[in-house]
Amino acid sequence: MVKWDVIVVGAGAAGCLAAECTARKGLKTLIIERKPMERIGQKTCGDAVGIHHFKRLNLDTPKGEELADIMEGIMVHSPDDQTVFKVASEEYSGFVVDRREFGQRLLRYALDRGAELYDSSNVRDVVVTDDAVKLKYRRNGKLEEVTTSVVIDASGMNGIVRKKLASLIGVSPTAHISDLEICYREIVKVKEPIPDKFGHIYLNQELSPGGYIWIFNHGENVINVGLGIQMSKKINPKEIYDKFIIKKFDILKNREVIHGGGGVVAVRRPFEYLAWNRVMFAGDAAYTVNPIHGGGIGSSMLSGRLSGETAVEAFEKEDFSINTLWSYPIKYMKEYGSKQVGLDIFRLFLQTCTNDELNHGMRQKLIKEEDVLRASLTGEVKLNITDKATRVLRGLGHLKLLLKLGRTAKYMKEAKKLCANFPKDPSRLHSWLSELNKLYVEYKSNL
Ligand SMILES: Cc1cc2nc3c(=O)[nH]c(=O)nc-3n(C[C@H](O)[C@H](O)[C@H](O)COP(=O)(O)OP(=O)(O)OC[C@H]3O[C@@H](n4cnc5c(N)ncnc54)[C@H](O)[C@@H]3O)c2cc1C
Repeated sequence: MVKWDVIVVGAGAAGCLAAECTARKGLKTLIIERKPMERIGQKTCGDAVGIHHFKRLNLDTPKGEELADIMEGIMVHSPDDQTVFKVASEEYSGFVVDRREFGQRLLRYALDRGAELYDSSNVRDVVVTDDAVKLKYRRNGKLEEVTTSVVIDASGMNGIVRKKLASLIGVSPTAHISDLEICYREIVKVKEPIPDKFGHIYLNQELSPGGYIWIFNHGENVINVGLGIQMSKKINPKEIYDKFIIKKFDILKNREVIHGGGGVVAVRRPFEYLAWNRVMFAGDAAYTVNPIHGGGIGSSMLSGRLSGETAVEAFEKEDFSINTLWSYPIKYMKEYGSKQVGLDIFRLFLQTCTNDELNHGMRQKLIKEEDVLRASLTGEVKLNITDKATRVLRGLGHLKLLLKLGRTAKYMKEAKKLCANFPKDPSRLHSWLSELNKLYVEYKSNL
C-alpha cells in the first residue's frame, strides 16, 4: 500500500491551503473530500472575506466570476434600528465571493502544486499508531484504506478526525451546543440592491437570540441574507426567517429565491489540541471562526497554511510527534487564537444582553465605533463609559449593564494575558487549560 506523506481531510479553504503548502514543498500529498470535484467550494455561507486575509496569505484578491461584490465595511444596527455603528476599515472591508468559484481556485492551487485528490470519498475512521496514521474512507460503496505520516483534519464542522480521536486525546468530540450557531441563509434576487456597499448586521435578541441577522449585497440585484441563532435556544432559524424576517425587511418583498439552505458554525475559542502526535486540526474542524462575527474563511485559510508549513518542518526534522507539531498551535495562537479567546468572552457577554440593553448601550456609545474595530483586531475592548452615559443608564435602570461590560473588559484582558503565555511545550497545556477554564467559570458565574 502507498504511504502518503500528508493526507488532508476536506477540500475547503483550510484543506486546500494546507495541501498547497505541503505539495509545493514536494511532499506526497493527498486530499480526501466527500464532495464530487465540481461541487468543491460550494457552501451555505455569508460569503464575505476581509481583504487583509488575502494580504496576509499573499493570495490574489477575488476577480471576475469569483467576485460577487465588494464590501467597504460593516454597519451594525441596534435592535430598535435607532443607532447604527459604521465600521469602515481594512478589517471590515473586503469581498463577497462566489463560494464555488473561490473554492475551485483554492483547489487548483493545491492540485497545480502536485497534490492528489480523491473526491466523492468520505473518511469514516482514523487510527493513529506509532509509525503512521491509517484512514478508512468510503467511495462508490467500497471501504478503502490509506496510510500517511501526518494527517490534517480540515473536514469543517464535521471534524471527522477530531471526533474519532477525541477519546484518545481526552477532549469532547464536538463543540458545546451553546457555542454553536444554527443558521438559515438565502441568496435572493431583489428589485433594488442595498443602496451602499456595506455589509449590514442587525442585532436582535428576539429574532436571532445569541446571533444576528445579516444582509450583504451579492452582485447586481442579488443579496445574501441570513440569520444565526445560538443553538442551545432550540429555535429553528428557517421558521423565524419565514415568519418574521421576510416581513421585517422591505428589500425582501417579492424576492426570488436562488438558493436557501442551513448551516452550523462554532463561535468559540480554538480547539484545545490544535496538534497531536501525527495529527493537526485546521479551519472549522479546529473551531477557528471569529466568535463575534462568525467569519471563518480567512482564519481557516490561515490555519490551513500554518498547519501545512508545520507538516513541512516535521518532515525536515523527521519527527511527527506532538512536540514537533506543537509549533503550529504556538503560531496560530499568537497570530489569531489569542484574539479569538478575548472575543469569545465578549461573545458570551453579548449573548446575555437584552434588546433594551443593546439599544441603550449602543445609543450611549459605551464602546465607540472605532473601538469596535479595535476590539475585533486585538480581542480587547476599550470602554467609553462617560459620566453622562452612567447617569442616563442609571436613570433607565441599566447600571447592571455597565458593571457587566466593565467585568467583561477585565476578563478579556486577563484571558489575553494568559494567551500570551500559551505553553511552548505541550506537556504544559493541561495546566494552562485549567487556568483558562477557571477564568471562564469565574466569568460565567457572574454573567
Ligand atoms: C451560514 C453560514 C454563514 C457564514 N458566513 C461566513 C462569512 O460571511 N464569512 C466567513 O468568513 N465565514 C462565514 N462562515 C464560516 C465559513 O463558512 C467557515 O468558517 C469556512 O468555510 C470553514 O472552512 P473549512 O475549510 O474549515 O471548512 P469547509 O469549508 O466546511 O470544508 C470542509 C470540507 O470537508 C469535507 N468533509 C467533511 N467531512 C468529510 C469526511 N468525512 N470525509 C471527507 N471530506 C469531508 C466537506 O465536504 C468540505 O468540503 C459562515 C458559515 C455558515 C454556516
